[in-house]
Amino acid sequence: AIVTGEIPATSANASPVVAFLAHMDTALEASGKDVKPQVHKNYQGGDIVINAEKKLVINPANSAQLARARGHDIITASGGTLLGADDKTGVAVIMTMVQYLYDHPELEHGLIKVAFTPDEEVGTGAEKMDVAAFGADYAYTLDGSDLGQLTDETFNAKAFTAVFKGLRAVHPGEAMNSAFADNLLMASDFHTLLPRQSRPENTAGRRGFILVDSIVTNGDESTVKGIIRAFTDEEMQGLVNEVTRAFNTVKAMNYKGTGFELTFEDQYKNMKTVLPAQVVNLAEMAMRQEDITPNRMAARGGTDGSTLSFMGLPTPDIFAGQYNLHSEREYADVDVMEASLRTVIRLITLWNLQPVPQTEK
Ligand SMILES: [Zn+2]
Repeated sequence: AIVTGEIPATSANASPVVAFLAHMDTALEASGKDVKPQVHKNYQGGDIVINAEKKLVINPANSAQLARARGHDIITASGGTLLGADDKTGVAVIMTMVQYLYDHPELEHGLIKVAFTPDEEVGTGAEKMDVAAFGADYAYTLDGSDLGQLTDETFNAKAFTAVFKGLRAVHPGEAMNSAFADNLLMASDFHTLLPRQSRPENTAGRRGFILVDSIVTNGDESTVKGIIRAFTDEEMQGLVNEVTRAFNTVKAMNYKGTGFELTFEDQYKNMKTVLPAQVVNLAEMAMRQEDITPNRMAARGGTDGSTLSFMGLPTPDIFAGQYNLHSEREYADVDVMEASLRTVIRLITLWNLQPVPQTEK
């Protein structure tokens, strides 16, 4: 279930309704059960021992951002589990914000909404949100990492399915001069023909990729399923063309194949195309007013925010002090969480001075 709440306005201004969201589920890569957190106060460099027996440590060599964490309080698990900082730091920042607003009724703000969502890590939590009923004009997820990070872009995402049909139900000893057409060979040739320079391990930054997820052979049919990721529509079209070219090459080879099908399906879109500039600019302004240098990021994946943005609730992501996600080395930086909290409170006061959006969704 999605947990929602609201904090009534303290200001007489008519201002937009702004929401803050975090996800309650944790990653699947390591256990999130019976987590025993440890607080390492006033980090002074070198190793932080998570578990001596397992020789599990974090230090600036395996966790680069620790180099800037001198004097910070660091929270880790104790080995064998996640910390769950992704996204408990977001939940903590939001709940501390709620407490702060109740303790400071003199702080002028409009109606504030909060929501805690499930199933972010499997990508299905945000789509269950009833955006109209929730009633926010703009939102932010608190699910980011290092100081100043502001994620306003995600990949465009497509899936593809290539089906190769051909008769394999022939005794291989009698295959020559028969109707034998090896659909498995067609599928593996297709995989091989996809461009190596566009593979995930060969791309980073703003370059997208093509990845085959599965090849399933079932009698007279092999099905290849894969994904394409790219930030721009131009790059996406180029990668779609590469997949189509590889498919057509296989089709043109002399296999005696009996059927060839290639289909593409949209999965999600780069949220930048639907984010009003104001939503991102105000977050940057809030950071600057708190002496934090904003760092716009493009997420090499999808986010709850991208799903919500396309459902009509523009939702970029703000840093929340979580690091080494999805691993036993996961940690939270309390000082960065505190900076996240300051950003959010400043942002709330900035929104109070903004006009209510004219176009109703
Ligand atoms: Zn997360």
